[in-house]
Amino acid sequence: MDRRFESHGLQSLPVTLSNSAHSILQRLSERESLLLAPYAMKSVDSRGRKHPEPEHAYRGPFQRDRDRIVHSAAFRRLSGKMQVFTGERGDYHRTRLTHTQEVASLARTLSRALRLNEDLVEALALLHDIGHPPFGHAGEDALDECLQPDGHFSHNQYALTIVEDLEERYPGFPGLNLSHEVLESQITRVDKTAPSHSPLLEAQVVDAADSTTYDAHDTDDAIKLELLTLDELSEMSLIREALAAVNSEFTNLDATQLRASVVHYLLNRQVSDILATSAKDLLRYDFQSSDEARDGELVVRPSKELQEQKEELESFLYERVYRHPELLKMRQRAQDRLQAMFLKYQTHPEWFPKKYQVRARQVGVRQMAIDYLAGMTDRFCDDQYVRMFGESSP
Ligand code: MG
Repeated sequence: MDRRFESHGLQSLPVTLSNSAHSILQRLSERESLLLAPYAMKSVDSRGRKHPEPEHAYRGPFQRDRDRIVHSAAFRRLSGKMQVFTGERGDYHRTRLTHTQEVASLARTLSRALRLNEDLVEALALLHDIGHPPFGHAGEDALDECLQPDGHFSHNQYALTIVEDLEERYPGFPGLNLSHEVLESQITRVDKTAPSHSPLLEAQVVDAADSTTYDAHDTDDAIKLELLTLDELSEMSLIREALAAVNSEFTNLDATQLRASVVHYLLNRQVSDILATSAKDLLRYDFQSSDEARDGELVVRPSKELQEQKEELESFLYERVYRHPELLKMRQRAQDRLQAMFLKYQTHPEWFPKKYQVRARQVGVRQMAIDYLAGMTDRFCDDQYVRMFGESSP
């Protein structure tokens, strides 16, 4: 063994894929039994993949899922999809990709503190918004309307279409062939009103991290983009509390420092609350396995008090930011464009790329137009629209 490798502890790294399937799961099992709580989802207990594959030499199943998601084309396109604001408003604010990265980072923090499976949590976090169409919820509503009255579009459902059908990464099967637990968790996001069981705790972490993240960064972006002032936001109890805490710790902060400190407080306050609330419930329910947690109540969530503060802030952001006249104008424009393109593609299916033309024969031109439109970035969607209808179009 080369001494340079030994000094980095790499002497036991397997070098072939053929004889190590058992050993990676065995090693992971030993590692996870030391680090993870009884209620965490263990890699060794995964129900596997739809298309059986040999285990990887040195990556567990959920690490592989994470990597497959990161290397997918749909994941890369998140950089060109808006979160709340389009690129016309500069480069400060979050995109769908940076939002996703913030969610993944925060979800890992929650996961480690609760001794859950961080690899699974990271895969779920990176996946959670992969199905967003161009132009955020405006785009989602427009595509949904296109399919009415006999169809329906949701970004959570479309995420499953991407990872099960649309991605082309492997010769042996369509999609990414993700683990059962990743798909199961995404399915629980599709219809949250009628679950037969609770999502895995790892999926609950991602939901909590998503909401924590957007409450903090939408506040940050809205102030930075001057749609709101901190003064106006201080009507909200959570922001008032944040300002009091920041002002008791610091004096003479400039506007940027104050905004950043408030955002830090919002993140810390929410994460601390979620951890305290979840830890108390986990102790109370004493789940002895991930299956028991699936059969139990939702536990990874904010306290009732914080939930009320979050809802107050979210209602305010909804009225003052998401319904801001400028955003409403963008919303209308995006919806008009997507609906016009949806109709046009149906009369010109030859405009689809080749692989979509093949798929159109299986799922129909209408559904295919939706699948193609939903995959577009904001810019590509605008470019295609101009190609179809000309520069002078609205
Ligand atoms: Mg999200």
